[in-house]
Amino acid sequence: MVQIYADNAATTAVNPKVLEKMLPYYTEVYGNPSSLYRIGAKAKQAVENARESIAKNLGAAFPNEIYFTSGGSESDNWAIKGVCRALKSKGKKHIITSKFEHHAVLHTCQALEKEGFEVTYLDVYENGIVKPEDVEKAIREDTAIVTIMYANNEIGTIQPIAEIGKICRAKGVIFHTDAVQAVGNVKIDVQQQNIDLLSLTAHKIHGPKGCGALYIRRGIRFDNIIDGGAQERGKRAGTENVAGIVGLAEALQIAVDTMDERIPRLTKMRNRLIDGLLQIERSRLNGDRESRLAGNVNMCFEGIEGESLLLSLDNAGVSSSSGSACTSGSLDPSHVLLSIGLPHEIAHGSMRLSFSDENTEEDIDYILEIVPKIVDRLRAMSPLWERIKADEAANKN
Ligand SMILES: *Cc1c(COP(=O)(O)O)cnc(C)c1O
Repeated sequence: MVQIYADNAATTAVNPKVLEKMLPYYTEVYGNPSSLYRIGAKAKQAVENARESIAKNLGAAFPNEIYFTSGGSESDNWAIKGVCRALKSKGKKHIITSKFEHHAVLHTCQALEKEGFEVTYLDVYENGIVKPEDVEKAIREDTAIVTIMYANNEIGTIQPIAEIGKICRAKGVIFHTDAVQAVGNVKIDVQQQNIDLLSLTAHKIHGPKGCGALYIRRGIRFDNIIDGGAQERGKRAGTENVAGIVGLAEALQIAVDTMDERIPRLTKMRNRLIDGLLQIERSRLNGDRESRLAGNVNMCFEGIEGESLLLSLDNAGVSSSSGSACTSGSLDPSHVLLSIGLPHEIAHGSMRLSFSDENTEEDIDYILEIVPKIVDRLRAMSPLWERIKADEAANKN
């Protein structure tokens, strides 16, 4: 049976080369990096080598600007809570973000609202892109941090990060970006792009789950959020996930090394798929077509439910994602699709396919063959579609 994994924005398979590098740190070099004997020191060395490699791949000035965390969610929490709490006593109590951030950012901002912070949620417009001039206008005397994601996890739109970074630096405001989806898929240089803090996670780039990092530029003041031992120079307690850290560094290195070959190849596949799916009546592409992750396709098909589409695709052997929040048990469509102005009933019929290095042109052929059939079948059973067609006929007369 066909098995096509097209949900790489949710998580990715661990690359066997990454796993191979990790394994010795479970079974042989399992010492605690804080211990002084040899297998402890060897584990510590592996952590420091990983830090150096990640720093280099992000364009950081110093390896110790990289802090290891449990993943993207922790990095986002730490960046925003850490900076805001450190600056509160200086009278800074304002946060600027966008309406379509990941929940790790949005819910962190909401938590800080309860601590007395005010949050400006910037519009992302129909194309799903924040306007740098909106950031500039929103900055106040008391702004503590600007946090804008690098690339959106649902619609894949890539934000003008360097321009936003330049504005923040000129205004003396700290700039954080959730780059979980962008790392390894877009060229990043934190110094050139004036990024002060950057979140990343291993499992979106063929590394292990439960391991990430936060880049914090030297000189930035921030509070700890995980208290305990003296790991990470006293900034983040907890025995290091040594194997995970080794895996994260290796996954990032491979992603960076293969980018120039992979991105044009995936872009070509993506565009062929988008063009093919847009042939379907009353379909639309969500998010800007050009400023978009190479592996992201997010479409709406009017008159059907995203979840039915997802289940039908699964039956046909394709793993995808839909924009209705079935995870939260609510029927609300995704905040991302609403933020780009889609009406509820259209946002319900959405589908995200996200591709990685492991996908092929044959995968695209197969998806292009089955999706129009599935959409037809679901529409034939849909009262909503019946109404759309009736309205259409009425408008013609
Ligand atoms: C996946 C994701 C996260 C969360 O990362 P975890 O490692 O799963 O905690 C945060 N932000 C974005 C944009 C993501 O895609």
